[in-house]
Amino acid sequence: MNKKKDTARSIVEGILKEIEQRSASMKPDPAIVGDLQAHLRKFEDKVSLDCTRSIPQKYFARIREMLGDEIIEVLDSGKLGSLVFKNRDRIQQVYKKLAVFFELYRHALKVAEDALGAVYRLQHVQQELVESQIAHVQEVEIYEQRMLRSQMLVDIMLEPFEDGIRRIIGFLGAKQFDVYLFDDDRFLTNELKTDGKVFTYNKQQEDAPELPEAVSSPTFQEVQETIYEMPLMVEGRQIGHYRICRQIMDDFDRDRWIQDVAFITPVAARIIEANHNRLHALKVYTDDLTQLYNKRKLNEQMGRLFKQFKTGQKKLFVAMIDIDRFKIFNDTHGHPAGDEVLKQTALLIRDGVPYAYRYGGEEFCAVFYGHEKQDVIDAMENLRKRIESTPFMISDLEHNITISAGIAEFDTGMNAVMDAIDLADQALYVSKEDGRNRCTYYDDVKGRLASDYSRLRQRNALLEEEIERLRQEVAGKKAGKSR
Ligand code: GH3
Ligand code: MG
Ligand code: MG
Repeated sequence: MNKKKDTARSIVEGILKEIEQRSASMKPDPAIVGDLQAHLRKFEDKVSLDCTRSIPQKYFARIREMLGDEIIEVLDSGKLGSLVFKNRDRIQQVYKKLAVFFELYRHALKVAEDALGAVYRLQHVQQELVESQIAHVQEVEIYEQRMLRSQMLVDIMLEPFEDGIRRIIGFLGAKQFDVYLFDDDRFLTNELKTDGKVFTYNKQQEDAPELPEAVSSPTFQEVQETIYEMPLMVEGRQIGHYRICRQIMDDFDRDRWIQDVAFITPVAARIIEANHNRLHALKVYTDDLTQLYNKRKLNEQMGRLFKQFKTGQKKLFVAMIDIDRFKIFNDTHGHPAGDEVLKQTALLIRDGVPYAYRYGGEEFCAVFYGHEKQDVIDAMENLRKRIESTPFMISDLEHNITISAGIAEFDTGMNAVMDAIDLADQALYVSKEDGRNRCTYYDDVKGRLASDYSRLRQRNALLEEEIERLRQEVAGKKAGKSR
């Protein structure tokens, strides 16, 4: 009996050893766990043993140790007690099989657990990897976006004012972009008592007011639509205000939008400042009434042109133009009508010559660079004829206007721009003297002008003699009286 027990025991131990060895080298297979569980359930349904009666206490302890209390309860329910008594050997066989089975089961569970742990770790690593990849992709996207945006900023900067602003409005998905620029420091702000805070000039409105409107208490609608409003600063200097309005929509991401606005603001400020400077330059160099360039612009441009002329091969001519008997026109028809004549004359002059300027009053100046003498004379003669034959319509009344002109060519020996302008002026004087409505080329009359000059000098000398004679006469009379 004892021998048998020992044999059984050595068999079980041998099996356990083998299981241990095998399981040590076994590869994890998660599928086996499911299979074993299904088998166990089937087995549990069919088999139970009264272990206390059929298996000696010391084996029982070993089984308990090996299989755990849970399993023992199943085995202990005592349904197969008769079988135990009838055939101990068979019970021993069942026990062995069970032991092997459960050992295998435990091992499988452990392997499955390890495998699951490995899978979990793998999943975790994968997750991390994916996340880092996503982060990387997002980073790349951000850089790409930044590059695109910078490119766009550069593009916008290089575009003319209107286009630049339109692009900004497009970028922001804004409805409109109101800009008002200070004309002269804070003059308008003070005038309008807005404290430089809220006043805007709407560029998009057809009938936009000339002056910015002060908005002291914005209406509800305005509050809803005005997304961004700020003073426009360039290098610490306030050059104006701007306000961006956007239609409120459901999918509106306000934070994102504010970010975009902040991003675009320096560019907008630059564009607006550039435009401000442009407008300012236009104003400084343009004559308000006729919109022609003024004398200041003439001086600047002529200065540059004169230098170029002196070192180059091209010819340079200047023509002085003066409206005939304009004082009488003003006196007869009024100053506003006179202004209208100036405007219409300016348009005709601008069309007729390459560079036109309002020199002052009713005098204009034309410049020809790189033209031949005859082309210049022809152009001026055509202009004179055109003005003569154009009916000037002013308040439904038709007027006829004529001009006189003097033309002179620049000479490389001249020291200053004014030298040639003087000559053209002298030629203009001859046009007037000869009856007006004509063009005079200086070279054609310089002999006459010189003799006019000597005549004037002779006359001057005669006059001085006469004055001296009269003075002496008066002195003589005084002396006679006092005697
Ligand atoms: P002439 O044929 O000799 O040139 O005679 P004129 O009357 O045109 O000559 P004058 O230089 O004596 O008169 C120029 C007039 O031009 C004087 C002024 O009334 C008028 N004038 C000058 N500037 C303006 C202006 O901006 N608007 C108007 N309406 N008149 C102007
Ligand atoms: Mg004049
Ligand atoms: Mg005149």
